[in-house]
Amino acid sequence: MSSLRFNVVEEAFKKRPVHVPTPEERPSEFYGKYVFNRAKMFKYLPARTYQKYCKVLSDGTPLDLQTADEIAQAMKQWAMEMGATHVTHWFQPLTEGTAEKHDAFLEHDWKGGMVEEFSGKLLVQQEPDASSFPSGGIRSTFEARGYSAWDPASPVFIIGDTLMIPTVFISYTGEALDYKAPLKKALAAIDRSATKVCRYFDASVQRVTANLGWEQEYFLVDEGLYAARPDLLLTGRTLMGHESSKNQQMDDHYFGAIPERVAEFMRDLEIQALELGIPCKTRHNEVAPNQFELAPIFEECNLAVDHNMLVMSLMRKVARKHGFRCLLHEKPFAGINGSGKHCNWSLTTDGGVILHAPGKTPEDNLRFLTFIVETLVGVYQHNGLFKASIMSATNAHRLGANEAPPAIVSSFLGKQITEFLDSVEKSTTDALINLEGKHGVQLDIPQIPEITIDNTDRNRTSPFAFTGNRFEFRAVGSMANCACSMIVLNSAVAEALTRFAERVDALMADGMERIPAILHVLREDIKACRPIRFDGNGYSDEWKEEAARRGLDCETSCPLIFDRYLDEDSIRMFESLGVMTREELEARNEIKWETYHKKIQIESRVLGDLVMNHVIPVATRYQSVLADNVARLRATFSPEEAEQLSSYNVELIRRINRHTTFITNAVDEMIETRKRVNRIEDERALAVAYHDEVAPFLDSIRYHIDKLELIVEDGMWTLPKYRELLWIR
Ligand code: ADP
Ligand code: MG
Repeated sequence: MSSLRFNVVEEAFKKRPVHVPTPEERPSEFYGKYVFNRAKMFKYLPARTYQKYCKVLSDGTPLDLQTADEIAQAMKQWAMEMGATHVTHWFQPLTEGTAEKHDAFLEHDWKGGMVEEFSGKLLVQQEPDASSFPSGGIRSTFEARGYSAWDPASPVFIIGDTLMIPTVFISYTGEALDYKAPLKKALAAIDRSATKVCRYFDASVQRVTANLGWEQEYFLVDEGLYAARPDLLLTGRTLMGHESSKNQQMDDHYFGAIPERVAEFMRDLEIQALELGIPCKTRHNEVAPNQFELAPIFEECNLAVDHNMLVMSLMRKVARKHGFRCLLHEKPFAGINGSGKHCNWSLTTDGGVILHAPGKTPEDNLRFLTFIVETLVGVYQHNGLFKASIMSATNAHRLGANEAPPAIVSSFLGKQITEFLDSVEKSTTDALINLEGKHGVQLDIPQIPEITIDNTDRNRTSPFAFTGNRFEFRAVGSMANCACSMIVLNSAVAEALTRFAERVDALMADGMERIPAILHVLREDIKACRPIRFDGNGYSDEWKEEAARRGLDCETSCPLIFDRYLDEDSIRMFESLGVMTREELEARNEIKWETYHKKIQIESRVLGDLVMNHVIPVATRYQSVLADNVARLRATFSPEEAEQLSSYNVELIRRINRHTTFITNAVDEMIETRKRVNRIEDERALAVAYHDEVAPFLDSIRYHIDKLELIVEDGMWTLPKYRELLWIR
């Protein structure tokens, strides 16, 4: 029974000694140790330069080269004191990760030696060869130049020996080739429109920022077992594997005690994240075995997006140090929950008021109502686009399964906010209605103090739920760059707020008072966006029918959902807010379709290889063992007795044969289908063909492989099984 599988399983179940970090200081002391944050800038920069930098942040004006030079000198000094020798621009191309290209701080001194040098020009811009990054045809191959430019709103940091500079990445002709550039434009748009609306209530508001608090779910698997699963290695998910007899049905993993080896990993991860200025707060087991979550405290949206990208790469790195692999795929294992990344979103004024939180006075609550309603209007107007913003080949496995939001975007408000909206819609007077805040509940349990109950309840099935002082966009995938959904969300709400202000201004210009004008427009909007509100069970079939009746987008095919980016409504919104142009949107869709077809193509190839190299040889070998046994029985016993004694094995041989015949035929057919559709040149049509014609083979072939896994002798099966992959000891 000595197979690769048994060796790796044995290794995995031995307890490994791992490095346990022991920082002497408290987190508040090492928080931000490797970040050139404001406090350090204040210390290292001349006062005048520091003031200029602050002004760049508050006004959004571009940085001049002289100031950049002074900042670069201070950064270099700090970075060298910290032991850094290299510098890189760190950007988010339209792939799944981040990109970097390191340069040493070295220059000729032109006297035969070298000096440590880092100029303001290098801080402000670099020219990475852009031809190897996806551009959707924006940048033709003869114009390979791309530019990365520092984003002063996201502080530089050090990883290892390298100073990392967060940057935007654009083409020679100025189109965005990344996620950050359009995100910053969407955030500027929501700032403009929300500030204008805030001033109906408080003339002193200067700025509104968007907040993002993400919750990152992930799986850990033992590194040895991972290495023995080519499908995990190459596609990030298991393409086969029968369900473990026990997985999550006992509900005993969620919030359960964290296994010691995992706790050590989490501690190490958190220390490193805190040192990089990421405010880690929450960690716990998730619903599925081996599934966990990390959530920091919310931050300004642009910074939070960078921090999430950083955490995802840290997770992968730290996991390997602890003998694990971190799986960020949305559905690494069939039959158990997948991973999402809830994005908690709200708006805050420069005065610190959370605009999505109820206030104390009726006027505060009118403002609260305005922001709730206009958020709903944005989601309603662009519900198909919201779905497109979270859709991918990998997240498609999770949506609509019995754990994650359905592939229909709707919003849950809870009983109290629903009643509040209804009463405003129906009321005919201009008197303001107040909203009950949190209330105390006396619990009838000895020694337990009174607790306060939120004015929202919870609904796990809603893709976009109001949760007391924020909306939680729950459909986002665990692997996604949050910027994708944040660009759409902030743009859609910016558009709704702009239209709200235009109508209020028009009514006031006609002589209507401020509050009646606001209430008038809100009543219209509450009525108009009613179809997006749904508090029921999002998993039910009745909801699918009801949603279609309401005119919500019910498409489930990933490549077709991407079409929503090119709807005239979407293009008009993005262009009018200055977030993205038609050309940029078209280019991005080319990349989305291309990525989709390549992912399915890789999965299909990997499955084909596994079938021919593992599954069929193993099943055939076991079949021979059985046949051998039947032959021996026949040689030993009388024909009648042999027939009786071998009947079970004869039936098993037939069953194995039925499965292997199906599998080999289907693999051949899948390969022929790939060859045929690969001739399609149009990216959209190719993606659609992969979705409709190639992807279904993955499921049908898997079904028969999983049946074989149950039949074949355990010792012969070469690939680690779910029951081994899913239970860390
Ligand atoms: P859960 O939704 O699982 O109960 P938590 O209560 O831990 O999760 O909060 C999830 C995230 O929401 C955290 O990152 C938290 O900082 C963030 N959050 C809390 N309030 C706001 C807000 N007003 N705007 C944006 N994010 C917020
Ligand atoms: Mg949550």
